[in-house]
Amino acid sequence: MSHVFELAPSGRSKCRGCDRAIARGELRFGERAPNPFGQGEMTLWFHPECAAYKRPEPLLQALGETIENVPDRERLEHAARNGVAYRRLPRIDGAERAPSGQAKCRHCHEPIARDTWRIRLAYWEEGRFSGGGYVHLECRKAYFDTDDVLDRLLRFSADLSDSEREALRHACAADLAGRSPPQS
Ligand SMILES: [Zn+2]
Ligand SMILES: [Zn+2]
Repeated sequence: MSHVFELAPSGRSKCRGCDRAIARGELRFGERAPNPFGQGEMTLWFHPECAAYKRPEPLLQALGETIENVPDRERLEHAARNGVAYRRLPRIDGAERAPSGQAKCRHCHEPIARDTWRIRLAYWEEGRFSGGGYVHLECRKAYFDTDDVLDRLLRFSADLSDSEREALRHACAADLAGRSPPQS
């Protein structure tokens, strides 16, 4: 059972990480996993970047074994190693403004106010991700143990407009600037 990198022979496969099509001829990562519905195994396809963020262990294993020339290898490895070091990072499934004030933050258990930024979480189970609640954007450091989340938020927030993406960047930066500076 070993994972693969290959060029997508068609544009029909969908990435399990972001739910978008993988273009024909694009490099894709195949995670081999036991088939939960029967015998044998199945291959789960990902954009390499999505796998680095959401399936770090199998991706690292595959990078260590492949002879393919994987573009951006160092960046992928770095992202995947972060996801192994900070165990909750691979749960990040993007960011959005809360459409209502109903959901509670998985970290502080306080409600997330309508129209404020929240981070979507998803959990990997038997070959698929399923929704697992939200955390306040401001609770990211406390919940994930690291601030290094913006790239992941943007990657899995393809539905946001350019101006919303910019607002999200600002929200992350403003929050950082608001903290007391480290002692040097
Ligand atoms: Zn993807
Ligand atoms: Zn919170």
